[in-house]
Parts: sequence; C-alpha cells; structure tokens
Amino acid sequence: MNGTPEPASEIDPASPFATPRAPALRKEVREFALALDLARRYSELDRHPSFPQREWKALAARGWLGPRAPTSVGGQAWSVLDEAALIEEIGFLGGSVFAKLVLQPEFCSPLLHGSPELLERWYRPLLRGELLIANQVTEPHAGSDAAALSTRAEREGDLYVISGTKSEVAFAEDAQAALVYAKTAPGEGAKGISLFLVPQDLRGISHELSEDLGEKWMRRGTVHYDHVQVPSGSRVGEEGKGFSYFMEELTPERALLGLLYLSVARASWGETRQHVASRNAFGRPLSSFEGVSFPLVEDHAQLRSARLFAWDVLARWHRHEEVSAEAALAKWLGNSTALKVLDHAMQFHGGAGYSSRLPHEQRWRDVRSGTSAHGTDEILKVVAARKLLGASR
Ligand SMILES: Cc1cc2nc3c(=O)[nH]c(=O)nc-3n(C[C@H](O)[C@H](O)[C@H](O)COP(=O)(O)OP(=O)(O)OC[C@H]3O[C@@H](n4cnc5c(N)ncnc54)[C@H](O)[C@@H]3O)c2cc1C
Repeated sequence: MNGTPEPASEIDPASPFATPRAPALRKEVREFALALDLARRYSELDRHPSFPQREWKALAARGWLGPRAPTSVGGQAWSVLDEAALIEEIGFLGGSVFAKLVLQPEFCSPLLHGSPELLERWYRPLLRGELLIANQVTEPHAGSDAAALSTRAEREGDLYVISGTKSEVAFAEDAQAALVYAKTAPGEGAKGISLFLVPQDLRGISHELSEDLGEKWMRRGTVHYDHVQVPSGSRVGEEGKGFSYFMEELTPERALLGLLYLSVARASWGETRQHVASRNAFGRPLSSFEGVSFPLVEDHAQLRSARLFAWDVLARWHRHEEVSAEAALAKWLGNSTALKVLDHAMQFHGGAGYSSRLPHEQRWRDVRSGTSAHGTDEILKVVAARKLLGASR
C-alpha cells in the first residue's frame, strides 16, 4: 500500500473518545466477524432476505444486543461510548446489518417503562436473542408528523381493542411482538398516544410486505390491526405517555446511526484507496490523476470530521448535556457524508463498482435508508433549526 498505513477500522486508542473497553473490543469483533463470515453473510442477506437468526443469537451470546440495557433486565449497562465503539467496528467489518441488530433492543427501549411482567416476558428474551420485537409508529397518513397517528386503542373493561394500520415498518412479518403506538385519547395530540406491547400472532392482525431498495433483510411492510384485543397489562407505562417514551431514545440513537453509516463508508473508502493505488490507466495508477485523488482526499477529511462530530455528541450526551439538535445533525451529516463516499467508491471502481460483485452498491443502497428512517433528513433539520435558531413549528 505505497508504504502508507492501513486505513484500519481503528477505534483509535489515542482518540479523545476511546474508552478503556475499545481496544479489546476491536479485537473481539474482528474474531467474531471472521468466525461468522459477516462479509459473506452481508451480501447473502441482500440476495436472500431473511432475518439473520444465527447472527442475532451470536450477538446475544456475547452480550452485544442492546448493550446499554440495565443489568436489572439482563443487560450489560455499557456506556454509550463503549457501544459506539462496538457499532463502529461491526459496521466497518460487516456493513450495516449486524450493527442494526445490536441497536434493535435499544430502539425498543420504550418497553423499559413496562411492568415487571412485560419486561420478564419480552425484554429479557429480546436481549437473549430469543425473540424479535418491532417498533410500529408510522402510518399511511402519519410519518414525519408521528403525533398525528390515528390507530385507536379503546378500553373495554380489562382489555384494549386496537384498530388501525401501521406502514413502512421493519420486521412486518418476522417479529414475535410489536411496540404499537395508538391513540387512547383522540383529540389530545401527542398526549393522547399510549404504547402497547402486542404479540403478533393475535387474531385480527394481517400484513403485507414491500420490496425495498436496500436493507432487504428487514422485510418491511404494512401491518393491519382489526379489532385486536390485548389485556390492559399490555399497556407500557402510563396512558398518554407513549409519545414521550418514543422521544427519549432518539438522541443517542441518531448519533449512533450517524457513526454507523460512517463506519460502513470508511470500509469502502479504504478499499477504494487500495484499488486506485493498484489499478493503472494510461500507464499510471488511478491515484495519480487529480480527478480521482482530490475527491478521495476530501472524503477522508469529511469522514473524519463527521465521525468526530458524532463522537462529540455522544460524549456530551454521556455527560447528560442536552444535544438533541446536534444528534439530529450527526445522523444527517453521517448519512450524507457516507452516501457521497460510497458513491465515489462505486465510481472509482469503474464498471465493477456498479455491480454486486463488489459490496459498494449494496452498502450505498443500505445506507440510503438513513435519509428516511429514524427521522428524514428534512425532519432532522427541522429539529435542529428549532433548537439552534428558535425556528417556530
Ligand atoms: C428502511 C426504513 C425502515 C423503517 N422502519 C420503521 C419502523 O421500524 N417503524 C416505523 O414506525 N417506521 C419505520 N420507517 C418509516 C419512517 O420512520 C418514515 O418513512 C419516516 O418517518 C417518514 O415518514 P413518511 O414515510 O410518512 O413520509 P412523510 O412524512 O410523508 O414525508 C415525505 C417527505 O416530506 C418531508 N417533510 C415532511 N414534513 C416536513 C416538514 N415539516 N418540513 C420539511 N419536509 C417535510 C419528509 O422529510 C419527506 O421527505 C422506516 C423507514 C425506512 C425507509
């Protein structure tokens, strides 16, 4: 590699954000990725989309599913910084799939407001990789404006009866249960939304799958609830608090996703760097042409700055600072930077870059989901503008 150092997956021990756990973790993830052949599985899951059970269970066996979860529910109580190191390393070595598995129990963290019975029955087994829980917020007429959702949960004695449709949701067919956000008090906006844990094998539930550009293994789709009866004990926490539970996890989640997208793009950047050094055109390596080298060095600077920004947001969140605006921007910056870098990776690999023989196009398609999922680019900027500029609703 021209005597220059490898673009390692580096959880850089000298980084101001490195945690004591990071160096050993990096080694462990590397062994894990080799043992499970994550690189091969990544492309296989694109060709044959299914929920990656084997990897889900293997991550659980290491305590890597939702590692921030409290020990009282069977979690590891890691700091968000340790988790960031894990997410980066898995994303670098195995694309976005397996790191998203790590995060899935934390996407379900609103369930932590549930009763001891709900935690015992659902959250502990989730962390053990024994079952999968989906998150169902979005509806055909309420996505970005999630508080406008219209699925109803009507109290009838000791039951709630749920009716409505959830759309665009991940694991539409594969989850054993879903966290369903529904109105218990229509007319009260966000304060009328409650949260329910709904097993997906109940009578009255049906679904359709959609075909996606990327992240096909998530098997997204639409889930219909037609007078589905759940016991009142299925309500998570208090009536009317569902939306506030949903908002709680968004800040760390967005910054972690920003880091994840960047780690996937860093893998492609490193591979492109090797390629342009060894591939000749017109008698010279591609890297000697400024049309090739200038975009790649710009990418290097932008990857590094976006990464430091996301780490800084997480470090500040870890210190209990209010960083919701910065976290929204960390996701936007991480995602948009990663997409540009992945596009360059495809471009500088020439015709092969556009094919599934190389991983860059799949990485691009998978990362592209991030411009919509967990807050669209526009909504992230709306959030940031409100906080940073006092922009009104
Ligand atoms: C891969 C993937 C996985 C997903 N997984 C889940 C899941 O598991 N559970 C779940 O509940 N949902 C999930 N979603 C849905 C996702 O959360 C929504 O798609 C997203 O919130 C946008 O909602 P929408 O699709 O209804 O678009 P809309 O809200 O209709 O938005 C359409 C466009 O209008 C823009 N827009 C809307 N309001 C404004 C505004 N005020 N200012 C500027 N622009 C605006 C949006 O940014 C967007 O570009 C997933 C989506 C994807 C792509």
